[in-house]
Amino acid sequence: MKGESMILILLGAPGSGKGTQAGVISERYGIPHISTGDIFRKNIKEGTQLGRKAKEYIDKGLLVPDEVTNGIVESRILENDCGEGFILDGYPRTTDQAQVLETYLGKMGKSIDAVLNIDVPDEQVVERLSGRFMCRCGETYHTAYKKPEVEGICNKCGKELYQRDDDKPETVIERLREYYRKTAPIIDYYNGKGLLVRIDGTPMPDKVTELIEKFLEESGYGTRR
Ligand code: AMP
Repeated sequence: MKGESMILILLGAPGSGKGTQAGVISERYGIPHISTGDIFRKNIKEGTQLGRKAKEYIDKGLLVPDEVTNGIVESRILENDCGEGFILDGYPRTTDQAQVLETYLGKMGKSIDAVLNIDVPDEQVVERLSGRFMCRCGETYHTAYKKPEVEGICNKCGKELYQRDDDKPETVIERLREYYRKTAPIIDYYNGKGLLVRIDGTPMPDKVTELIEKFLEESGYGTRR
């Protein structure tokens, strides 16, 4: 392991597979996977005030305002399990969030090690999102790439699969618009800081994981699990 900790950001359009990759890398390197989308969905399910606020935006395919999102990330990265690093998935999504994150990390005496941009062409993104089905246990499936053994049922826990409301076609288009309007500019932002690494997100998930691990190994980060 290089240094004391590893702080990674996974960037990519909706449906690029960044959540899947963040999950695998988190397990292999033993550092937490922090997904702002998952935090919002948990709050929506629990009916919290934050969940109600976030839902107003998520259902329309829009980004939740920065003042709501930044605070959640700040308190999460201060938790004890983040001491040896963490993987951010879906945050930052605006240049303002990127700058705020730097301030938070600076206060903690930490900095970002790498920003991995999982690159997938638009046509594939739309196809991936509209065929995606989820299980409440966290597994994800796809009608073309990862079919469950029994249609509509999770292989792992046997529960019924569902489609995320924001994966419905009308919302997918708005999410992509938001991505190009607000998130894509941070690719240049991190490139300018010499932190950006392009990862080809078009192969099957295992192959994409290999590409990420190859980069991490070459950069001196060894797996710990
Ligand atoms: P995700 O699971 O990362 O695709 O996120 C689902 C939705 O949650 C997004 O479409 C946004 O509406 C909202 N969201 C997640 N992360 C952020 C963020 N960093 N800033 C603003 N909105 C976010």
